[in-house]
Amino acid sequence: MSNIKNIAILGSTGSIGTQSLDVIRDNSDLFSVFLLTAHSNAYLLIQQALEFKPAYAIICNESKYNEVKQALSHTDIKVLAGHAAIVEIVTHPEIDIVLTAMVGFAGLEPTIAAIKAKKDIALANKETLVVAGELITSLARGYGVKILPVDSEHSAIFQCLAGERFNNIEKIILTASGGPFRGKTLDFLASVTREHALKHPNWVMGAKITIDSATLMNKGLEVIEAKWLFDLKAPQIDVVVHPQSIIHSMVQFEDGSIKAQMGLPDMKLPIQYALAYPTRIKNNFKRFDFMDYPNLTFEKPDIKTFRNLGFAFEALNRGGNMPCIINAANEIAVAGFLADEINFLAMSDVVESCMQKISYVAKPTQTDYLNTDKETRIFAQNLIKQMPSKAYII
Ligand code: NDP
Ligand code: MG
Repeated sequence: MSNIKNIAILGSTGSIGTQSLDVIRDNSDLFSVFLLTAHSNAYLLIQQALEFKPAYAIICNESKYNEVKQALSHTDIKVLAGHAAIVEIVTHPEIDIVLTAMVGFAGLEPTIAAIKAKKDIALANKETLVVAGELITSLARGYGVKILPVDSEHSAIFQCLAGERFNNIEKIILTASGGPFRGKTLDFLASVTREHALKHPNWVMGAKITIDSATLMNKGLEVIEAKWLFDLKAPQIDVVVHPQSIIHSMVQFEDGSIKAQMGLPDMKLPIQYALAYPTRIKNNFKRFDFMDYPNLTFEKPDIKTFRNLGFAFEALNRGGNMPCIINAANEIAVAGFLADEINFLAMSDVVESCMQKISYVAKPTQTDYLNTDKETRIFAQNLIKQMPSKAYII
């Protein structure tokens, strides 16, 4: 039997997807690609398929099917289209790990299907755990599958917990870079542009998570993600702003000892750790040198200005479908900001209104999550239509 792990990458054309393929390319003795998926980027999907020769390539956007099919017609790669095809193929018996690197709520159904087919999940798509953390973690327990975090903070905590199986966590400390607008006032934020917001100081990522980092919603989503991954209560989760992004997060144990995982910001490391877990793979990534960073600094997050982080804690405390509501509201708000329909601060207004207006369900089923997501999106879209058009009052 071969020791090579067969990987399905959902969202292979994105920031995490392409970095995962870099890791796989460098470790072809350990990993091979079974499935690649993209939403609309047919060109890159074709290039990746020609290089990595997966058994399947799936393009979500059905209008791009012919282009992909034709380009791969001389190969053995099976080409499919549509979301339902992803949900079906992730269950294929030959897959060992499903890496969920698509963005947003779209990750939920394929992740559930993969867990039910007993696939280990390397989870980058944090929205899945935000929306339905209780369902996902109980399914994972029931089907005996591992959820291996790819998000750098959660990978850090996961690494700190190695060898600590019988020791209780007192709390975790999630670090946040603070994003491009750290220290800025509400007046300043009212007029920031999309281009400003898309410039993250430390990480190069997809557009949605980059905007989430600028509003601190990303940290809010990560707080909820951490609750489910590590079975924590809200008071056990602290957030500290650490602008250098060298300490990726920390765990404090019951004796007061704190373990931190550190390194230069590079998503390939957490991706590699998740795919090869529990083994560490030797690599030649650039090494951290303390002398280059004589000042590692820490600040309290400003939740008066960056209200989304407070909303996320509130959603965590209220539970039920509230995290699903903030996720859907935020996806629509970010899309609205990226389309120049609303200004930066209005994103939090959309989230807040949805939290107040969408029906609360205390014990949601999978169908409730789908309904809540749909209802919230429609409500948020209507809200945006009524907001003063276009963003910047300069
Ligand atoms: P990108 O926007 O760069 O990539 C998203 C990927 O998902 C692309 O392959 C895209 O296809 C595909 N996709 C987008 N929408 C859909 C959809 N509706 N259905 C199916 N596929 C879709 O995102 P990132 O790589 O930055 O982020 C991916 C996930 O990982 C997110 O949940 C993010 O929060 C998380 N994450 C990302 C980090 C990072 O450093 N980038 C760090 C930690 C977590 P196409 O290219 O065709 O549009
Ligand atoms: Mg992160």
